[in-house]
Amino acid sequence: MSQYSRAVQLALAHNETDLAASVADRIGDTNPGLRKKLWLQIARKVISESASIKGAIGFLKRCEQLRIEDLIPFFPDFVVIDDFKEEICAALEEYSRHIDALKRDMDDAARSADHIKADVRALDARYAIVEPGERCQICRLPLLARMFYVFPCQHGFHGDCLADRVIKTGGPIKAKRVKEVQEAVGRGTYVGKKRERLVKELDELVGAACVLCSDVAVRGIDEPFITKVDNKEEWAI
Ligand SMILES: [Zn+2]
Ligand SMILES: [Zn+2]
Repeated sequence: MSQYSRAVQLALAHNETDLAASVADRIGDTNPGLRKKLWLQIARKVISESASIKGAIGFLKRCEQLRIEDLIPFFPDFVVIDDFKEEICAALEEYSRHIDALKRDMDDAARSADHIKADVRALDARYAIVEPGERCQICRLPLLARMFYVFPCQHGFHGDCLADRVIKTGGPIKAKRVKEVQEAVGRGTYVGKKRERLVKELDELVGAACVLCSDVAVRGIDEPFITKVDNKEEWAI
């Protein structure tokens, strides 16, 4: 009936340590806190009544949650350290291994922080070279003819070509906002700071990522190469 605490106490009251242990183990992983608490009760009883400390520790090894430092308070004051020297050494070795692992983690984290810092510094100085003959990746006309975007992958697009593509593929919410901001900028009714803000928003909407390399391209993976306007016969083998 899941009355583990009461069952363990009853078993211990009748000196049935094995029974108490099997009841405590029945909790399993469902409540590790309770299992450890009950095992500590068993440990107190076993250590106080056991003739040899070594035998008591051997019994308590059955629960992997118990550590030597949990058990030390239960030992009588006159116990000689020799009796559980091995256990203490093993525990210390495990801690030192754990500390080593933590140190390695800290070193890794520090290294990746350095890399990120270097990347951020490099972003400030980033530039792209556009050759005179370079073409827009969408309309194939010379890039330098109109306002354009160039991405780190060296793909370049005219501002309006890229905006059209984002409107087509970016989903209805983004498409609506791009159109609104485009219109507002195009009308020229806004000037100064307000216009700057709109242009910046348009930049962020349209220039967020290269439409050929980013997740935009991944999302378009199920779009057919041949659309309704294409002549299917051209592709016949
Ligand atoms: Zn273009
Ligand atoms: Zn690209």
